[in-house]
Amino acid sequence: MDKKLRKAVIAGNWKMNKTPEQTEALINGIKPLVASAECDVIVCVPFVCLDAALKAAEGSNIKVGAQNCHWAKSGAFTGEISADMLASMGVPYVITGHSERRTYFGDTDVTVKNRTRAALDAGLTVILCVGEHLEQREQGTTFEVVRAQVKIALGEVSEQELERIIIAYEPVWAIGTGKTATAAQANEVNKAIRELIGELYSKASADKTVIQYGGSMNGANAAELLAQYDVDGGLIGGASLKAAEFASIVTAASK
Ligand code: PEP
Repeated sequence: MDKKLRKAVIAGNWKMNKTPEQTEALINGIKPLVASAECDVIVCVPFVCLDAALKAAEGSNIKVGAQNCHWAKSGAFTGEISADMLASMGVPYVITGHSERRTYFGDTDVTVKNRTRAALDAGLTVILCVGEHLEQREQGTTFEVVRAQVKIALGEVSEQELERIIIAYEPVWAIGTGKTATAAQANEVNKAIRELIGELYSKASADKTVIQYGGSMNGANAAELLAQYDVDGGLIGGASLKAAEFASIVTAASK
């Protein structure tokens, strides 16, 4: 990444793991290991762990995020959580468009756009996930797919609001599979996303936008991925559940 233009962001996505008690313990474990980080550090925890996470992270450099939010402010949406609810708790970040939400819970490019819009309206910063399936990569449509996902999700986002958007490029075939994109593959898609931001907004905004890579990033491969010019951090699933390993990624991003 270009440290003169952007600050790296390392975000953990805990998925459906950890109870509130375990959340407190894991954050207490991570805290001393990342205290001198020179990147932003976020943990995105299950909804029921947000309160415990906010309390455990208080006074530290760890920020807390949720993993999803609904697009409506309130209403008959059993089981859903609104962006306003997250904001009222003091949660600053939320993930939208994670491939597991798209695959298992019917999220589409349009609902991802709506969730992103609602999150911005509530004052949150969004980690917007995009990425191609294996068949799409094999068919050579990766760039087309990812460009369309980004373009639709940002359809109602102003240039000023873009400052509260972090984009996470996460090839679906690399998530939770142990199969990481090569550093070159990650960088070329991140670069294409940055070029698209330049087309949609301006070169200045493209230069400022944080674009992460996610997909089986871990302590062993983080340094090489994060050394790429257009890789500005990582969204980390499995490896974010172990304090030492997550901290080693944070250390790699701080160099
Ligand atoms: C993720 O959940 O966003 C992710 C990248 O998972 P993993 O690191 O486990 O592949």
